[in-house]
Amino acid sequence: MSAEPSTINFDPDELGKKYRLERDKRLRQDGNEQYQEVSGEFSYFVEDPYLDEEIEREPLEDEVEVLIVGGGFGGMLAAARLREAGIDDFRIIEKGGDFGGTWYWNRYPGASCDIEAYIYFPLLEETGFVPKQKYTNAAETLEYCHIICDKYKLYDNACLQTEVQATVWNEDEGRWLVTTNRGDKIRARYVVHSNGPLNRPKLPAIKGINDYKGHTFHTSRWDYAYTGGDTSGNLSNLKDKRVAVIGTGATAIQCVPHLGAAAETLFVFQRTPSSVDVRNNQATDPEWISTQEPGWHNERRNNFETLLTGGSVKKDLVADGWTEAFRLLFGTLRSKAPSKIKMFSWAATSVFSSEMYKSGFKEYMTKKATDYMDLANAMQMADYQKMEMVRARAEEIVKDKETAESLKPYYNQFCKRPCFHDEYLPTYNRDNVHLIDTDGKGLEEISEKGIIFNGVEYEVDCIIFATGFEVGTDYSRRAGYQIHGIDGMTVSEKWGNGLATFHGMHSKGFPNCFFFGPAQSGFTATYTYSLDEQSIHLAYILEEVKKRGATRVEASKEAEESWIKTIIEKARLTASFQENCTPGYYNNEGKINQTPQNNMYGGGPIEFFSLMKKWRSKGKLEGLELN
Ligand code: NDP
Repeated sequence: MSAEPSTINFDPDELGKKYRLERDKRLRQDGNEQYQEVSGEFSYFVEDPYLDEEIEREPLEDEVEVLIVGGGFGGMLAAARLREAGIDDFRIIEKGGDFGGTWYWNRYPGASCDIEAYIYFPLLEETGFVPKQKYTNAAETLEYCHIICDKYKLYDNACLQTEVQATVWNEDEGRWLVTTNRGDKIRARYVVHSNGPLNRPKLPAIKGINDYKGHTFHTSRWDYAYTGGDTSGNLSNLKDKRVAVIGTGATAIQCVPHLGAAAETLFVFQRTPSSVDVRNNQATDPEWISTQEPGWHNERRNNFETLLTGGSVKKDLVADGWTEAFRLLFGTLRSKAPSKIKMFSWAATSVFSSEMYKSGFKEYMTKKATDYMDLANAMQMADYQKMEMVRARAEEIVKDKETAESLKPYYNQFCKRPCFHDEYLPTYNRDNVHLIDTDGKGLEEISEKGIIFNGVEYEVDCIIFATGFEVGTDYSRRAGYQIHGIDGMTVSEKWGNGLATFHGMHSKGFPNCFFFGPAQSGFTATYTYSLDEQSIHLAYILEEVKKRGATRVEASKEAEESWIKTIIEKARLTASFQENCTPGYYNNEGKINQTPQNNMYGGGPIEFFSLMKKWRSKGKLEGLELN
């Protein structure tokens, strides 16, 4: 690989070898099967610790026009956009005690959003809300959810503490029957499934979890009654406790500093280190926000996502660690071949290996293969350089050399969710904090007293699972309920051999049913942006269906087949990149490409949004069958 000696102080070939070694170490046959579903004897891990009081109410037997499953940002945005479109006959069913979704559940100490608040918070111009800081925290986010709910009067249309158990289509009636754990039987003409892509906590299937006699919980059900404190920290009950955390993903990065500050002893069990870059949070400048012109919010989030997909913008408005990484990558590309920039999915950016040229860039391959190999190398070099900076940061901050070495990530930056934090790495300089590096192996055994690794038993009072959420398992398992379409066909059956949707939102055989989420759709790092675009799309379709006097809408077979083809075609852009990555939920735990249609739209979100906008502007509802 060619390098520019003046700027490079590493050996790219050696680094390439090291990356492959680190990936190979972690590849495993069992993929998603390595995790334990939180059901049956494990269901205590998903009980709601945040409820003040359980609601008592009679079961409902009634009918609504639109039923929305989920009161997270997706459900709130869907409802808000429906209200704006004059559709008020909707009901939101939410299993938590309040709105908030991911933010209702994830209240661990230090929980915050490392995507800028001015783009992460949706509806900012509509509500006039000003986030206090560039990066918000869990408390402010929940406060903001209440502001949205009040503005759009969502509590009037909500059934909280209620879990959907099934949705069943009745073709004769043209209605869905939605049943819940409270005995509700609600008929709905339309159902919107916004149940959250990271909603179901997962546990590693470690031998002995249920034998452990100490205290234990998952980060998404934080037990403050045990730890003391709140989302801002101060976990005072831990001062005489020995605590273990399993996992070092984006969640652990945020809660470990608080655990380290509070616990008598903290053991952090690591399988793969995260890349932890500078966060640099700042207070919002009130003058800056007051001088923004109407339309600023959409422009800003579009500017951010454009940069993250290799597009060109006049100015990097957000200017943070995310955009810096992409400016570096695409800046290299742009300076080398300005006319040849293509839009790529943000998750697919940095490595374009030779296989990728064969599959994704055939047309270029035939023209100027060497040019493009140079570009691929240049981008890989930019990624190496960026990650060298991340690794150097660990070395600079963490005093113990062995610990610092263990904290260095050896993979391309967007193989895993990049993290931005200023207190995580310094936590390892505390005498009471110990990193137990499993060197890619992960943990395999828990005893009655604690965690066993490499023949050593770490006795602890509490084990906290920061092990993330199910991705890539069966849809209904993650949602927690089944969807039965025409002739009783379930969504699990329909998607058993691969996702099949039109625009990610409709699926043939499931009329009047709308799916929210990243599957076969445009996915943004600012996830609320995708959800807002999906909400706008939903409101448009329901308005148009009504205008045409129809009451039933379903994707045509041809439209669905053609969309699957598009997804497969575009997925090729990301395949090689993902193959080269260490396993994780971004690449289906290393088992990629078995069903290439199980992907998001590989052309990137901005391309996807503009495709949807164009589709709407034609006004024909092409691909949808109306009756
Ligand atoms: P992740 O899935 O990202 O992390 C799970 C962690 O558990 C990984 O470090 C994983 O290691 C580890 N793990 C799994 N099995 C084992 C095992 N057997 N032994 C040891 N370790 C194990 O979950 P998170 O909850 O951290 O984050 C989920 C997502 O939530 C993020 O990717 C992000 O999208 C979102 N999030 C966003 C934040 C924000 O600021 N916007 C903040 C927090 C979360 P390995 O990597 O090897 O698989």
